Amino acid sequence: STHFKYTFDTPLYKATSSFNSGLYINGEFVDPAEGGTIEVINPATSQIVGHVSAGTKKDVDLAVEAAKKASKTTWGLKVPGKTRGRIISKIADLVEQNVDELAALESLNTGKVFTVTKHLEILGSVNTLRYYAGWADKVHGKTIETDENKLAYTRHEPYGVVGAIIPWNGPLGMLIWKLAPALATGNCIIVKPSEITPLTALKFASLLNEAGVPPGVVSIVVGYGNTVGAAISEHPLIEKVAFTGSTLTGRKILEASARTNLKDVTLELGGKSPNIIFDDADLEQAVKWASMGIFFNMGQVCCAGSRIFVQEGIYDKFVPAFTAAAKALAGATGDPFSPTTQHGPQVSQTQFERVMGYIQSGKSDGANVLIGGERYGNDGYFIQPTVFTECKPDMKIIQEEIFGPVAAIIKFKDEAEVIEQANNTVYGLACAVFTENVSKAIRVAHALEAGSAWVNCMLSIHDNVPFGGYKQSGIGRELGEYALETYTQVKSVHVNIGQRL
Ligand code: NAD
Repeated sequence: STHFKYTFDTPLYKATSSFNSGLYINGEFVDPAEGGTIEVINPATSQIVGHVSAGTKKDVDLAVEAAKKASKTTWGLKVPGKTRGRIISKIADLVEQNVDELAALESLNTGKVFTVTKHLEILGSVNTLRYYAGWADKVHGKTIETDENKLAYTRHEPYGVVGAIIPWNGPLGMLIWKLAPALATGNCIIVKPSEITPLTALKFASLLNEAGVPPGVVSIVVGYGNTVGAAISEHPLIEKVAFTGSTLTGRKILEASARTNLKDVTLELGGKSPNIIFDDADLEQAVKWASMGIFFNMGQVCCAGSRIFVQEGIYDKFVPAFTAAAKALAGATGDPFSPTTQHGPQVSQTQFERVMGYIQSGKSDGANVLIGGERYGNDGYFIQPTVFTECKPDMKIIQEEIFGPVAAIIKFKDEAEVIEQANNTVYGLACAVFTENVSKAIRVAHALEAGSAWVNCMLSIHDNVPFGGYKQSGIGRELGEYALETYTQVKSVHVNIGQRL
């Protein structure tokens, strides 16, 4: 089977990481039934850093078989919630103990800035696991009043076996958002990491036996979307699939469900989130949040504030200050493992080309580049933080998700006009409003068609609070108590306690 070994010799992390990079099925690392291997690339250098195994449908079948067995014996409602919670807590402890190695692997594989991914994503995953560990013994139904002859109650039962298909922009974070509530509610889970970013999922898998997760409860099957991803979404014994990624793939997963076993589907898809800056906003704060809101993770964030609407009275102050923030970030571009770096590469050659294509379309459609608009350096997939002004509503850079460090600034006159423009998109993941007027802030937050509304902040996500999309940004919610509903099905039990026929 494949093995991954890499020696980090960086200012922030020096150690050798070495683990089995086969498929993790039924509690052990195995060779794929018939698959091959996938090259793992460091996007900061475009060099190959190792190989992992690639599965196929046959491996998914084996994982489902093991999961089905576990859900009837060593997991599911057979195991008290308290016990499941303790195991999830133990997973959290092990992730925490391995935080530096996991952060280094994530950074190596995605180009994320090491310290940022360590604190926000890897330690964030620890928090998410602990949050759902706490829920494991608090999931229950209701008794429902009917009449004197009946006892009616509901049970929140797990699906049994669920699938999770993960993107490359948050390889461990998005995995944990799905795995933690799935295990807390008593499901077994088959995870397909992105073929581009499999490293942290495999390192994570290597911790599960020690955490006491019974064999079959979690399987990690690395592979391509059209093989392993399709096998999960079509599988007759997988009762639910949770997906994060592009809207195009989301549609395929929903179609696969419709064609096969009508499995439950939750989708966390793309966005084109509006960020609205009113004249009375705190300018300095609005600039800082807006910059973070679009440039964080090199713009590879589903809820990135990619359309920045600025009211005409503050426009002439906002634009130069925002451009200066982008310039400062451009000056901090480089090696994700350097302590001074704040901006790394895009995740892959494909994504690099996609984003450069959008920048080109903005230029040829007549938008004005204030800063950036070019690649950075000659190695790796770096793109300069880019700011467009003079954007028209029908331009591709205003309509489509770019998923890169590209901000589009649009000037507006009044509240009614900006609400209409902001909602003029097929997406509805998030929105933000900056103003010191509390009534206006709440009024606008309520009027915008989005699953998350941020007032005087951006990209604010918390384990306890649900996250998900309106319109074509998705179906269902992740995080918070709400996510538990998407991993359970409700059974109504009617007990006759007196009616005679
Ligand atoms: P993608 O949707 O193709 O990939 C996401 C996951 O889906 C990967 O694990 C992939 O292997 C899997 N997948 C692909 N085809 C599949 C299929 N037919 N059946 C089942 N699973 C399948 O995304 P991408 O092509 O890597 O990125 C393209 C664009 O998607 C990006 O530019 C960006 O706009 C968007 N995107 C959004 C998010 C998000 O968080 N909303 C994440 C990643 C990408």
